[in-house]
Amino acid sequence: MAIKTWELDSNFKNEIAAMPGGEGIMKCFQCSTCTVGCPITELEPSYNPRKIIQMSLLGMKKEVLESEEIWLCAVCQTCSERCPQDVRISDLMGAIRRIAEKEAEEGKIELKGVRAIFEKAFMHQLEKFGRMYEIGLSMEYYKKAHGGFFAGMMAMQKDYQKLGMRFFKKGKMGPKSMFPDKIKRTGEVKKIFEKVGE
Ligand code: SF4
Ligand code: SF4
Repeated sequence: MAIKTWELDSNFKNEIAAMPGGEGIMKCFQCSTCTVGCPITELEPSYNPRKIIQMSLLGMKKEVLESEEIWLCAVCQTCSERCPQDVRISDLMGAIRRIAEKEAEEGKIELKGVRAIFEKAFMHQLEKFGRMYEIGLSMEYYKKAHGGFFAGMMAMQKDYQKLGMRFFKKGKMGPKSMFPDKIKRTGEVKKIFEKVGE
């Protein structure tokens, strides 16, 4: 990827460092230990947390924030255990994602790929019910990822035909899972979300 020096934002690293979870970014000395041990690289060989950190340090703000890769971290914490500099990479990815969401809301960047949509739909379900409601998650995700209710429902039906029996066996589908199973104190969960939002 060619670096356009005139587009670099030297303050990007400071912006990340000011976010909760992003404090460790300047400590990275690019040893690659995080990337070598990351299980996500088995599934997505292009995923490279070291490179995302390097690009952020260089000031490649737009490229980083619009990258699909910032949504890939599974928060397994393997890298955080192994990083010699205690960078806390999964928290750092979270900080970068929060900046991406904010910039997207302000119309400065465009979030790429469907993973951002999935994460948002996942958090909505938690906020509403205090636990995961799989059908609600699917409906919200498919509708947004496929650009509308009908297209989303068609795609959902297709995937469910392939995966339905597996979902059923795991209790993700069936009469009991049709309706949300709310926790009692959803108001308190809402307050937590509001506090985090602040
Ligand atoms: S393991 Fe830590 S110091 Fe090494 S590249 Fe990853 S974040 Fe940077
Ligand atoms: S926490 Fe994220 S970046 Fe670190 S090893 Fe796990 S999946 Fe990879």
